[in-house]
Order: sequence, then structure tokens, then C-alpha cells
Amino acid sequence: MSENKNALRDLPSVSALLESEPLRAATIHYGRLAVRWAARKALSELRVAVQQSALASEPLGVTALAERIAEELNDHEAAALQPVFNATGILLHTGLGRAPLAAEAVRAIAEVSEGYCNVEIDLASGQRSQRSQAVAQLLCHLTGAEAAHLVNNNAGATALALAALAAGREVLVSHGQLIEIGGGFRLPDVIATFGARLRPVGTTNKTRVSDYAEAITEQTAAILVVHPSNYAITGFAQSPRLEDLSKLARDKGVPLIHDIGSGALIDFAQFGCPEEPVASQSIEAGADLVLFSGDKLLGGPQCGIIVGQGRLLESVVKHPLNRALRVDKFTLAALRATLHLYRQPEQALRSIPLLRMMNSSPDQLRVRAERLAARLRPRLTDWEAKPVSDEAFVGGGTIPDQAIPSYSVELNSNTCEVQTLADQLRANAPAVLARIREDKLLLCLHSILPEQDEPLGALVEKAAEKSKV
Ligand SMILES: *Cc1c(COP(=O)(O)O)cnc(C)c1O
Repeated sequence: MSENKNALRDLPSVSALLESEPLRAATIHYGRLAVRWAARKALSELRVAVQQSALASEPLGVTALAERIAEELNDHEAAALQPVFNATGILLHTGLGRAPLAAEAVRAIAEVSEGYCNVEIDLASGQRSQRSQAVAQLLCHLTGAEAAHLVNNNAGATALALAALAAGREVLVSHGQLIEIGGGFRLPDVIATFGARLRPVGTTNKTRVSDYAEAITEQTAAILVVHPSNYAITGFAQSPRLEDLSKLARDKGVPLIHDIGSGALIDFAQFGCPEEPVASQSIEAGADLVLFSGDKLLGGPQCGIIVGQGRLLESVVKHPLNRALRVDKFTLAALRATLHLYRQPEQALRSIPLLRMMNSSPDQLRVRAERLAARLRPRLTDWEAKPVSDEAFVGGGTIPDQAIPSYSVELNSNTCEVQTLADQLRANAPAVLARIREDKLLLCLHSILPEQDEPLGALVEKAAEKSKV
């Protein structure tokens, strides 16, 4: 015990640490507040370790401790939000911010944020307006819907639609569609949280229109159809056509809500993904509300889009939860610029990064992989670089089981550790994220834009140099 007391007394003071050479240098870079905060944190952790007699070794001297604190500040700064080259081959990687924005969208964000913008003022009348108005008409044009509304993500859109239309009553959902979409967002819990009651219909693999018909009562507030984005039920499986379900919903006067998840505005069959629902087709088939994300297949900013019947959207917009899910002006500007590109689909294919990536052919990818490998080969002494055919994935909970034929550069070494190279690639600025397979590092070019090949090559060279033993 007294030993502990001595050890506690021997810990340096915050002011002694701040006076030390390493932390004076750190103060110039990070500012006094940050350094003081880090010093206090380090000391309190040491105090706990001393009290629990958990110190691995003798306590450090002032300078050594100060150096460690400065190092932690450095590491933290390097690991904070920064650009990443995504060589994972997963095009919509939620951990990497999903869809990269088109240059037009980036410019639009800068334009509205440098000064003021009329986010909620109608300039023609000078009156207060709805902020979704900036994009509502474009969304109606592109989906054929009567009205549109915007919230901050699709999980929010689902929550808001249920809260506004189904609180206190029942929502019919097929057993096979009771999904969890990640981050613990489980549909049964969401339905309960927002005051509605779940009424599962059918079975996991088979649900028919008659199952819905038999479940409809006066208590039924809505039928919710959820696109199975992140899983697939195959084999002996059946679910009703949306057209047939919508006929039943109309006959019974029950709104049909379709959560299509990924939000394709154009048909992804052209990229070999025929199962992906298109917003306009869902409206056409008779869905009363269609919900989708802005940052998945649409290729825009994070947001949740609700399109459909004006009458239903009025209730949605009036619900108090709507205010808590409000989008900011950056989102509005970026989405508006992205939707503008869709007015001419060939322009969308040229300008929206996600569509450019989807649209790259295996031949184009092979040529790029050969070029990158040829560039790296003479410059990497310990690594062998070669182009290999590979598979890419759309990701982001979209089209889970569908591999897209792709090309990668494979790096293989007899003398260096592949994990060390991967670590060094992540330590770059910008960081590079790659995949490891069978002790080889794979740089997939499907999730890299052609103009990034050159800087990617330079970053790989730098990391390989640093990963030498
Ligand atoms: C991705 C997804 C969501 C969630 O969308 P976020 O924009 O990430 O909140 C909801 N439903 C389905 C079917 C999805 O695929």
C-alpha cells in the first residue's frame, strides 16, 4: 500500500509535463488545450494502473512520458477522418462513406455553404418553404411519383413513415422480410419503437398475396414490403409481385410502403444486376410510398428519400419526428446536383463515380491492372506485382451475393509480411485500403477511378518501401 502511495507521489504533475520539451513542441502543433487534455488523461490512467498494481514496469520519467503523450496525439491525428483510396473492390463500403460524390455535387456544396442560401425560403414569394422543395420536383420527375420528401437516411425514412402512418395500429410484413440492416436496426424493434404493431405474414421462404389478404383487418395501418438488400432467400421461395399486392392494398384501402433500400434511379440490369428494384418501377407497380437511401446506388449524399402519394406525404411531413430527421443544406445541394445529372442518363453514367465504376468493363479493368502492375514491378524490389482476375461487390447491403467480374493487382513477397504492407498502406495519407487473400495483397481497381491509378501507384511504392524488414 505504501509502495503504491510512493508511486502515486512520484508521478509527474501536469505542469511538469507541459513544461517538458516534447510537449512544448506538441503545443505548437496541437494547441495548449489538446496537450493538457492528453497529459491529464495519461496521468489519470497511470494513477489507476498504480492503484491496481497493474504497472507493467517502472513508471516512466517526465521526458519519456511526455514523448509517449506526444506520440498518442500524433497517432490520433493521423487516424482521424481523412481521404481513403478504396482498393477493397467493395464499391459501396459503409465504413468508407458509401458513394463518392460527383464533382458537380461537391461544387454545389461549396456554393451553398460559402455564404447564405435559401434553404427554407421560397424566393418567388419571399415566404417560408419546405426544405425538401429544393429536390422534390426533381425526385418526382425521375420516379414518376406525385410528391417527395427528404430525411437524413433511409433508416430515418422507415421510422418516420411508420410513426406517421401506423402508430397504434398494425403493419403487415412478410416473415421473410423481417430484416436487420446493420448497426442493430432490426425491423421488428423499429416497428415497436415507433408505436406500431408488427403482424408477420406468410413464412420465411413463401408468402402469397392471400396471406396478406387474410391478415388485413380494421387494425391494419399499412403493408410494408422490404427489399432483401443484404441477404437472399433462394430455392423453394416465393413472394408476391408488387403489382398484385398493390391491387389488394388498393381494394382494401391500406397504404403499400415499399422500402427498396438501395435507391436505383436507373435500371441496374445494364450492369448485370437485374434484381435491384428501380424507384420508378416500384411507383409504376403501385407502391404508395417508396423509401430509399441517397448514398447507395443513387450515388449521392447520405439521406433517406420518400416518394409517393401527396396525401400520405403530408402526414409524414407533419409528424414531429420529421423535425429531428431534417437534412442540412449540404445534403440538399449535393442531392440536387446529383439528381440534375440523372436528367440525361448518359451524363449520369459519365459523371457519377459509382455509375462510372459500375460501368467499367472487365477489359478496361484488365488494361488498368496490367499498367499498374507494370509500373510497380521495376520499382518494388521485394514484391512481385501481377494483374489477376478478381471479383468486386456492390456492397453497402446491396446485391449481397452477386460478384462482379473484375481485375486486381496482386502483390506477393517471399521476404516481406503482407500484413505489414497492408498496415503501411493504411498509414499513408491518403490511406489505401486493400484486401488480403492467401497471404497476398490484392488491390482491386473496380472501386478505384482511372484517374486515381497514378497516385495509387505512388502510395503503394511508398508503403512497400516502409514495409521492408
Ligand atoms: C440500406 C438499407 C436501409 C438503411 O438505409 P440507410 O440509408 O443506411 O439508413 C434500409 N432498408 C434497406 C432495405 C436497405 O437496404
